[in-house]
Amino acid sequence: MTDINAYAATEAGGSLAPFSYDPGLIGADEVEIKITACGVCHSDVSMINNDWRGSRYPLVPGHEVVGEIAAVGSGVTHLKVGQMVGVGWTSHSCQHCSPCLSGRQQRCQTGTSTIAGRGGFADRIRVQHIWAVPLPDGIDVKSAGPLFCGGITVFAPFLDFDLKPTDRIGIIGIGGLGHLAVQFANAWGCEVTAFTSSMDKEDELKALGAHRIVNSRDDAAIKAERGYFDYILTTVNVSLNWPLYMRALRPEGKLITVGIIPEPMGIPANALVGGARMVAGSDTGPPDMVAKMLEFCVRHDIKPMIETFPMSECNAAIERLESGKARYRIVLEN
Ligand SMILES: [Zn+2]
Ligand SMILES: [Zn+2]
Repeated sequence: MTDINAYAATEAGGSLAPFSYDPGLIGADEVEIKITACGVCHSDVSMINNDWRGSRYPLVPGHEVVGEIAAVGSGVTHLKVGQMVGVGWTSHSCQHCSPCLSGRQQRCQTGTSTIAGRGGFADRIRVQHIWAVPLPDGIDVKSAGPLFCGGITVFAPFLDFDLKPTDRIGIIGIGGLGHLAVQFANAWGCEVTAFTSSMDKEDELKALGAHRIVNSRDDAAIKAERGYFDYILTTVNVSLNWPLYMRALRPEGKLITVGIIPEPMGIPANALVGGARMVAGSDTGPPDMVAKMLEFCVRHDIKPMIETFPMSECNAAIERLESGKARYRIVLEN
């Protein structure tokens, strides 16, 4: 096997530099993918910066991969060389723990995340076959990468927390994840309210499928939403006035966070007990759910809105992401 050419950070917070490694023999249950494109996610930056501890260097970021199967291990029978696939947050799982056996492989107790191994800012990548999900016909390959992390992260709670088409949903934070959540929720049939701090995006948000727009930093405007929502999905990783958002829920309403907010959320018990409201978190989704999401995207013409950079300009792409100005997801192309 020839070396894989990648971009890696060699220390916490370091910029990315060319880095080659020998992937060794391909595992019987692995596939090798020739990478076409890879999205850039906030979690890549968190891992580069070692924000969650446990990052190992050299660290090759990238977990929104699309590409073509270049080789398959001896035990792989359902994927063929030349087939187009995508890979998200997870690259390997044990297949025998309770989450794996019950179809929640993303919660495998001994699973490997793609960037804890070697990620997608590279020309090729190796993953366990179940994590290489085939791209359906009709999907836009160039923009599909961000569906594999950003997309599934906001799609999974719709299924896991039983969102109904008759529900009113509020989506907080309209960036890489939120702009996909708005499209999903509209196609699901819900009434969609976008909570955003950039009110200048109004026309764009309506075009994506938002029926209503509320300023997420305007406490009076949020107060006026009292008892309105069945479901609020928050994608931000900063602290907001969470007790106020809890009051915007109907009885039995749910506040779901997919953003890792560094401070405690400070929700008083009476906001939960009265009306049996709920707060929960959600991670990503199993491969089967990813495949269903991709079909849903093709059926409803849902696409990430992307800005592209060549793979070699990954540092500039990360700078752009950190500026908060990208609309809405950045994709690196080989
Ligand atoms: Zn497992
Ligand atoms: Zn991600």
